[in-house]
Amino acid sequence: MAREINEECGVFGIYCQNHVAVAPLTYLGLFALQHRGQESSGMAVTDGRQIMLYKGTDLVPKVFSEEKLKQLKGYAAIGHVRYSTTGSNLPENAQPLVVDSSFGQVALAHNGNLTNSVELRGELTRSGAVFNTSTDTELIVNLLAQQGGDLETALVKTAQQLAGAFALVVLTRKRLIGVRDPLGFRPLVLGARPDGYLLASESCALTNLGAEVLREIQPGEMVIIDQDGVKFHKYAERQRESFCVFEYVYFARPDSNLLGQSVHQVRKRIGATLWKEAPVEADVVIAAPDSGTPAAMGFAEASGLPFEIGLLKNRYIGRTFIEPSQQLRELGVRIKLNPIGAVIRNKRIVIIDDSIVRGTTSAKIVRLLRETGAKEVHMYAASPPYLYPCFYGIDTSQGTDLVAAKYNIEEIKRLIGADTLRYLSLEGLVEAVGIQKERLCLACFTGDYPLPIRGVTSKHCFEQNGSANE
Ligand code: SF4
Repeated sequence: MAREINEECGVFGIYCQNHVAVAPLTYLGLFALQHRGQESSGMAVTDGRQIMLYKGTDLVPKVFSEEKLKQLKGYAAIGHVRYSTTGSNLPENAQPLVVDSSFGQVALAHNGNLTNSVELRGELTRSGAVFNTSTDTELIVNLLAQQGGDLETALVKTAQQLAGAFALVVLTRKRLIGVRDPLGFRPLVLGARPDGYLLASESCALTNLGAEVLREIQPGEMVIIDQDGVKFHKYAERQRESFCVFEYVYFARPDSNLLGQSVHQVRKRIGATLWKEAPVEADVVIAAPDSGTPAAMGFAEASGLPFEIGLLKNRYIGRTFIEPSQQLRELGVRIKLNPIGAVIRNKRIVIIDDSIVRGTTSAKIVRLLRETGAKEVHMYAASPPYLYPCFYGIDTSQGTDLVAAKYNIEEIKRLIGADTLRYLSLEGLVEAVGIQKERLCLACFTGDYPLPIRGVTSKHCFEQNGSANE
């Protein structure tokens, strides 16, 4: 289940010219994006004269008190929730990052991973740059601070030197800017309220604030929001678009829309496709909560089997993957999922999970179901085998833990103890997503990386020997 995958990040931005209380709205926007990262939360707010920054290594409600939000007065802000994909969960690695530059103060927050960060860091170090964090985001900030000309030109020049995945929100004293990489790995969407404009990684953060969703920022596009309104600037030719298909499988909230597709509906279609591809005789369909739920509903609808809540999730503990050690991660599964005996006992169970990455959680679940008295356990993954590490902003870049890379399906079935193990086919996934295959990144399933990886192999690569494998 994708609790075995570490998240990425979420970004948020807001510009309300006649509003001085954007901090509480930013708080709510970040709260809606908390599923994308739970290690740190932060926001930068401008009142037109200065940018104020506040961040911490915790969940949004724990970092920001009411008192703190009152102090962060301003009419525009950016915010960030983080799971570390480059650099550890250290206070200095929390975002946004703020620098003083020839354009004045600039704050920046980033979702994604750069693929040329090792060479960029080497170049910048040789030119005298000093780094205070072990993130690739600081490279962007440093590059930006080195540019001359106006901010818009400097941002274009900076973006053109970056390779990899980046959805950025940038704040100056008077402007909010959003930038998306030319391949569009990570989402970034623009919304409007009567009093201003918003940017967010996912539309759920906009609709939660009563905003109208205007449109997604296109790959290779920049949006500039200031007192004159909204201006779009295409800074790079569209290359092979490579939107991360895993956003549909797991990362995004089901109440978000991505590339015009409802995430919830996509997941239901995935469930229906799973049934079509691999029907099974069973008594009941259950989900690995919560991200397997829509697919389980789709499977149940297509098959005519009853859908039941078979595992109850304790919502008051953190997601298991935020605990760093394998031992704690395994313990966390038992604490957070409780089986409902009346649903499970003496039944042939189909359990649908969004994905199987390390396999440890699936094994725990199957054992839990058997201990509760399940007669048969049929494990269905709502995505193809996860075979290759991601270098574009998801923390699987080590690749060593990927169970499907080490074992065949029959072996994994035995390892997790299921009677049946079925994965969705790649064709089935693409069909259910409803977007042309050419527009999607599918690299973790196919190994067909849309961009070459130039050196970064570990999220800690800028921590070894204090700097990098330069
Ligand atoms: S490799 Fe997988 S997780 Fe990474 S961007 Fe591509 S589809 Fe998404």
